[in-house]
Amino acid sequence: MKMTMPETVRHISFVPSAEFSAAREVAAKIQQAGFPAMLVGGCVRDLLNGVRPADFDLVTVAQPEELAALFPGCCRMIGACFGVSLLRYGAYEFEVATAREERNYLDGRHPESVRYTADLARDMERRDFTINALRYDPVSEILYDSVGGLEDLERGVIRTVGVAEERFSEDYLRMLRAVRFAARFRFEIAPETWRAIGALSGNCTRLAGERLYEELTRMLTGSDPARALELLRESGILKAVLPEVAALYGVEQPKEFHPEGDVWTHTLRMFEHQASADANLSWSVLLHDIGKAPSQSVDSDGRIRFFGHETIGAEMACAIAERFRFSNADRDAIVQAIRNHMRFASVREMRPGKIRRLLADPNFPLELELHRLDCISCHGMLEGFVYLLDCLRARSEHELPEMWVTGKKLIACGCRPGPAFKEVLDRTYEAQLNGNFAAEEEALRFALEFFGNRDGKNLPPRA
Ligand code: ATP
Ligand code: MG
Repeated sequence: MKMTMPETVRHISFVPSAEFSAAREVAAKIQQAGFPAMLVGGCVRDLLNGVRPADFDLVTVAQPEELAALFPGCCRMIGACFGVSLLRYGAYEFEVATAREERNYLDGRHPESVRYTADLARDMERRDFTINALRYDPVSEILYDSVGGLEDLERGVIRTVGVAEERFSEDYLRMLRAVRFAARFRFEIAPETWRAIGALSGNCTRLAGERLYEELTRMLTGSDPARALELLRESGILKAVLPEVAALYGVEQPKEFHPEGDVWTHTLRMFEHQASADANLSWSVLLHDIGKAPSQSVDSDGRIRFFGHETIGAEMACAIAERFRFSNADRDAIVQAIRNHMRFASVREMRPGKIRRLLADPNFPLELELHRLDCISCHGMLEGFVYLLDCLRARSEHELPEMWVTGKKLIACGCRPGPAFKEVLDRTYEAQLNGNFAAEEEALRFALEFFGNRDGKNLPPRA
């Protein structure tokens, strides 16, 4: 697809960070050797948005071997067949892509053939969205836009470069990327781009589990997971990749516990309240009630029930973890949080031993936060949560240091057990806890000094 849009050129200066300055030096050095070189993609978009870029990528017409000769010992090919080099420069690393044209994707992912081009504008045509296809020469401070990205950035629009159906058919992951960028920047998706996603969303089942996991996790831990999920659902992507979650839409719940609405609304509400960007917490939130769709039943008196939904949900989450290739540790944490999430409602009736084990579980912080989000996103009752916080505090108060002076030690020092024993030990320990001793020997001296009288008349003073 040849872009016919006339190129917009604009002079613009940015306040340079140290990394920006380093990237500019790299571009200058490549340019001095006679090859055009510019910043490209996400970093240009972020600079224009006033956001600090996560990394700086460059595009040049210099080929990988030419770059290696320009930066001896600092250049490593990372995408050998795509001509991408990783360049170490001072404290920084930059990805430098050799400008290329791409055609004929085979499997919705890998281009069949790669052809380098001397025209940097051609490289913009293979990029996913117009806002990601801007390039900036940091030496001359000129911004180049051959795809209308500047206008889309100003208007807040996600639009494919070129014909949407064609671009999505080359790489189905771009449909999820469109949703992620729309949610992240609170942009709209252009109508023709949105229509193409709707038509092609079913193909997302063909994407590798790892790529789906990474893209979904970035959405779920991003700035607006609820909006991302709504867009995924409306576009049909969710039904393709996570039908278990799509099925929560419209699953009614008892109004007295869930005034907020159906299971889908409840789940989104939890994301709106989530403060941390922890991936396992996000996946636990997303999947915690998936067992409700298959377990829903209605009593003869009209009451809605979800018998065993946490157990069913945990099994379903296992299958999802398999599909998306979660690590074993992540899978175990998420599945356990789902299986346990109803237990938290009855913590106040639990025996102390059970509570102690609950608190000692390494997964407890995640499960406690899931419980808090669960409560504040429906009935708002936090008694169980507060009770657990009290238990936590009591536990840390009772986690006492080891006694420096024990009965065994006193006996070893020649003291004979007698009525004063316990009292001496208690008072010595009290003094230890109060910080009266610098070291164990001091505590022992203190105890022995007062042990002279076996009748316990000569006790150490209370600390
Ligand atoms: P982020 O801040 O999320 O990293 P980004 O725009 O830098 O955003 P990357 O995934 O790092 O995104 O990709 C860098 C650039 O490479 C993009 O801006 C885009 O131009 C191009 N790109 C990345 N993935 C694709 C893809 N699947 N299809 C087409 N172009 C892509
Ligand atoms: Mg990036």
